[in-house]
Amino acid sequence: MKPSDQNISYYAKNYPASGIRAMFDLLPEYPDVVNLCNGEPDFSTPSHICEAAIASIQGGDTRYSPTSGILELRQAVADKYTQQLKRRITPDNVMIVCGGTEALMMSLLATVNPGDEVIVTDPCYPNYFAQIELVKAKCVSIPVYEKNNFQIDPEDLKKAISSRTKGIILNYPNNPLGVTASEEYIQSLEQLIDDNNLIVFSDEVYESLTYGKSGHYSLAQNDRIKDNVLVMNSLSKTYAMTGWRIGYIVGHPKIMKSMFRLQESVLSCLPVFIQKAALAALRGSQDKVQEMASAYEKRMNLLVDGIQSMPGFKCIRPMGGLCVMANISAYNKSSEEFSRELLENAGVMTVPGSAFGPMGEGYIRFCFANSFENIQKGVERLSSYIASRQ
Ligand code: PLP
Repeated sequence: MKPSDQNISYYAKNYPASGIRAMFDLLPEYPDVVNLCNGEPDFSTPSHICEAAIASIQGGDTRYSPTSGILELRQAVADKYTQQLKRRITPDNVMIVCGGTEALMMSLLATVNPGDEVIVTDPCYPNYFAQIELVKAKCVSIPVYEKNNFQIDPEDLKKAISSRTKGIILNYPNNPLGVTASEEYIQSLEQLIDDNNLIVFSDEVYESLTYGKSGHYSLAQNDRIKDNVLVMNSLSKTYAMTGWRIGYIVGHPKIMKSMFRLQESVLSCLPVFIQKAALAALRGSQDKVQEMASAYEKRMNLLVDGIQSMPGFKCIRPMGGLCVMANISAYNKSSEEFSRELLENAGVMTVPGSAFGPMGEGYIRFCFANSFENIQKGVERLSSYIASRQ
């Protein structure tokens, strides 16, 4: 007998489709396109990291590891955060996970019950919708506006909080908005977060990519909310290690302990040789991280100067991350139609803003994780298409 619909789970049936993936899946149909659609670093993983993985495999590190990760790596993460947060962080605060994606899944699984509410900004990184769905919680969106630099208005946060609210997902530097968090901004939200005992799921995977005068402020630096902040980070963007699938969570030992047990059923553990590579990344020279960040800054400026010179396009220059949201409301077209038009007529792939939530309508997202030459080509194509269209 063939599998029936009943053999497909609630989770699989209700899993929201990704607007980024929908665009990316069109790539084979447009082989000459300039891909400004997805956020994958085009740099190679630094060689000392690759060599550490090879040495580890050759040295026989091919067996199970502890569910929470190897102690040396948890210690390296703890040392990094002891320095960053200016207080003692130990391996008990740290769990190693399979990238930023598993970091959020584990954080939600360990803290959120079915029927709870989790707050996100609109627009936001769309995986949040899907992962909140997977723990059977309700996603509550608060709008963020370009005129407010895409920051949350505390009044909107207050309105969104109910007796069922368990936490809020914050992401700085932000994908897709390109904004970062300052200490003062987080202070404007701390009282509401603290008074309502909210868990802050702080997605900091772009921490190394900040531009101009902006630096990275980790939400766990805030004294008032620090015990309820779960920092979710990965090596994907910082060390050009997207395919290695490695990241970590830093949080209060009480929450972390509950996660260690859950990992047993989800992944069991991460490969030791990948963890040894991550150890080399964290303990080794950070020169490549700086080099990549300054290369991205040049690419971002090239792209933003290009976007801002085109009639009908407006955008805030990103302070961090790998993406820029361009306001295209002057064109009076849906973001999906406009993005499709640019793909078909200008040969440039972008993501419709609607993929990031209803407030993304009127925007398209460009990603500058592509070579300088390709971004230049993309800008030239867009400029000449937009000029021909006027
Ligand atoms: N969080 C944000 C905001 C992202 O943009 C991404 C990937 O693009 C992730 C998390 C996932 O990170 P990872 O590739 O380490 O799973």
